[in-house]
Amino acid sequence: MDADTLITGATVITMDSQRRVIRDGAVAIAGDAIVAVGKSAELAGIVARDVVDGRGWVLTPGFINCHVHITETLIRGFIPEALPFDEELGRWVIPLYKGHTPAEQAVSARLAIAAMLRTGTTTFLEAGTMLAFDDIMGAIEGTGIRARTGRWTEDRAWDPSADAQGLTRDALAALEGDLARYPQDGRRIAAWPNLIGHNTATDALWQQVTELAKRTGTGVSAHMSPVGDDAQWYLTHTGQRPVAHLDQLGVLGPHLNLVHMVHIDAQEAALVAHSGTNVTHCPGAAIRCGFGATRYGLFPEMAAAGVNIALGTDGADNHDIMRVMTLMAALFKDARQDRALFPAHQVLEMATVNGAKVLGLADTIGSIAVGMKADIATHDTRRPEWQPINNPVDQLVWSADGRGVHSVWVDGVRVVDTYRCTMIDEDALYAEAQAMADDVLARSGLPALAQWPIV
Ligand SMILES: [Zn+2]
Repeated sequence: MDADTLITGATVITMDSQRRVIRDGAVAIAGDAIVAVGKSAELAGIVARDVVDGRGWVLTPGFINCHVHITETLIRGFIPEALPFDEELGRWVIPLYKGHTPAEQAVSARLAIAAMLRTGTTTFLEAGTMLAFDDIMGAIEGTGIRARTGRWTEDRAWDPSADAQGLTRDALAALEGDLARYPQDGRRIAAWPNLIGHNTATDALWQQVTELAKRTGTGVSAHMSPVGDDAQWYLTHTGQRPVAHLDQLGVLGPHLNLVHMVHIDAQEAALVAHSGTNVTHCPGAAIRCGFGATRYGLFPEMAAAGVNIALGTDGADNHDIMRVMTLMAALFKDARQDRALFPAHQVLEMATVNGAKVLGLADTIGSIAVGMKADIATHDTRRPEWQPINNPVDQLVWSADGRGVHSVWVDGVRVVDTYRCTMIDEDALYAEAQAMADDVLARSGLPALAQWPIV
């Protein structure tokens, strides 16, 4: 037996170093790795335990979602649309988050993961907002997905009587504990020392988590400047804009993933480019929340300057990174009236190889090539939106979405088979999620503000 799985007859968008797209292609998997890629005829001699007929499929590397809050899922649809950013976070999102029991957080996470796997995402970087950390880690381990996760971490003492140094010490100790319990050493699921970001971390914590990330070969992900408030706060308190301040602290670099980065200036964009800092854009969240990404965002300039830009889904609404890809390809064409901006092939790089780079896993995931982990999404082209097939990369971004994902492999394991998760009992999960959502919302005391009566 040469391989465990051999998929034949598919169109393979490899994302390898030559960006080959192979018609009538085949991929062989042994254990958790890809052991051969080529034309079906070239791989015909391989004997595999499981031969999968891939005719009618387009294969891509599993997608990489570089910013997602996995424990927000139960409250989707509940938060009114028209709230100011501060009120949405302070009165709704954060109290609702903190009002979940550990069991509710675990179910919320599994629901988010089911939604990601079913739409072709095989790896995610959690936003650094997990509260019941060990409960959630236990729950996601069995889903089959690959992940880097972070606990809810902030240390700024808003109350002047608080023990400021104690807050920093406790935050760091919790992260060190997480990294010791869930180390990165080749595991599918590991912890990262992520920060909430904005203005919630002190300079000392920024510097200490950076050291911790470098020492453990992990990275740091943090929110920054979705709206103008962060710049305003940093200017008032440090005399500099946020990225300039982080540069002065010495915490920029390829280990760092700054998320949103909408309200930045040209100097901040240059600092990000120069330092090799990664930027994750969440276009769905940005337009949903009216951040002004298309009006103020310097994403075209950052991309031109060589910044590694990845994509995220962010909050509760939707976890389909393919929808995000369509938005990324579309929005700046319109905003700048420039059709050359962010073509489909460049956007697909953001959701695959660029994401792998954010995670420090560029040699492991993000492409279908020999030696890479067998993380693969298959797109069912026997659907009207995929026909006829003239340019699979263009159609993947512009015509298809995650609902056409037929099967998914992570580490060589088929975690989605014919539109259903294999390691998650979806029906049981949905029933549990609905019952828990009802409880969470009832306990919150927040008003249900649906526009129309629900009878
Ligand atoms: Zn976020």
